[in-house]
Amino acid sequence: MGAISTILEQSSFSHSDLEQLLMCEGNEMRLLFSKGSTVKEKFVGNKVYFRGLVEFSNVCDKDCYYCGIRRSNLSVRRYNLTDSEILDAALFADENRFGSVVLQAGENSSPAFADRITNLITRIKQLSDGRLGITLSVGEQSDMVYRQWFEAGAHRYLLRIETTNQSLYRKLHPDDQLHDFNRRMDCLHSLRAIGYQTGTGVMIGLPFQTNGDLVNDLLFFQEFGIDMVGMGPYIEHSETPLHKFRHELLPIQERFDLSLKMIAVLRILMNDINIAAATALQAIDPLGREKGIKVGANIIMPNITPGFYRNDYSLYENKPCVDEEPAQCKGCLDARIALADGEIGYGEWGDSIHFINNKRKG
Ligand code: SAM
Ligand code: SF4
Repeated sequence: MGAISTILEQSSFSHSDLEQLLMCEGNEMRLLFSKGSTVKEKFVGNKVYFRGLVEFSNVCDKDCYYCGIRRSNLSVRRYNLTDSEILDAALFADENRFGSVVLQAGENSSPAFADRITNLITRIKQLSDGRLGITLSVGEQSDMVYRQWFEAGAHRYLLRIETTNQSLYRKLHPDDQLHDFNRRMDCLHSLRAIGYQTGTGVMIGLPFQTNGDLVNDLLFFQEFGIDMVGMGPYIEHSETPLHKFRHELLPIQERFDLSLKMIAVLRILMNDINIAAATALQAIDPLGREKGIKVGANIIMPNITPGFYRNDYSLYENKPCVDEEPAQCKGCLDARIALADGEIGYGEWGDSIHFINNKRKG
């Protein structure tokens, strides 16, 4: 067991050290998890911050090969919440002292969409007297649109790079301008330059992905100086092109363990960033997100989309909590976080300490 415990005592890590950490099992894996937990406690404490997730539309212009709501999936019942449904969800988040909301949807680059989001940001700020922090996750947009939303009051943005291996990225997306790796990377740079707390992430356990690729992903997060990361297991969906490679996948439990190892290693590499425990963890294990919190994550995104629409935001199979209403979700989360030795930061934004520290330096 020597090697892993020696690596865990180091203050810097080579590519091969990180690869060994991702491969560890049994007691060594438990050692890694315990280190992730200690580092988290020391640098960001044991508070868990909520971001109420509103999946406001499953209409998408893009056709990513892994995603259940991709444009070409004709069996999806498309929906688009009304403004008042979105504002009601935000009100629920404010009344329950969630601190922040995330507006997430399929990608749409029309001017009408941009203006609609600007208006929603303004109204969410108004209805909560500025209390609610706003994170956006609506894909690739122009610099001008990102700026317009930032000026309206959104202050965090999530845009997963999905994988930093460009040839793997090509296999996961159609080969056209709408699905261009470099454009996605440019968007991340643009978001950071505008002043957003910038979040990215990857899917873990994709077909053809190696542990070496995942190490490169972690090193990319570090090199970019990302403020927040949301990463979770890839879960297949039968109505997507990637499904045909399901026989190439790691068994689901291994994908789950690998995701927890990625969280723990990232916490050790980047002590003060925000790390979300992805909902996809819970699709594999009912206590998946709490396990993510235990090993290094500090953010949870409880789904506050009205229950009626949840089934239709089906990115992958087995998506959890699809038949619950937001109030039920909340009651259940309180108990779960306590089980993971966490304390909920009610009414707090829980901004990335990494972002705050960097701002001070700059
Ligand atoms: N459309 C926006 C975008 O792609 O950035 C935001 C919504 S999109 C559904 C959010 C994330 O869902 C993607 O970044 C992707 O990582 C994740 N996702 C999609 N399909 C998935 C799958 N089959 N398994 C796990 N995660 C998936
Ligand atoms: Fe659309 Fe996002 Fe799904 Fe890609 S991952 S198809 S952009 S919703």
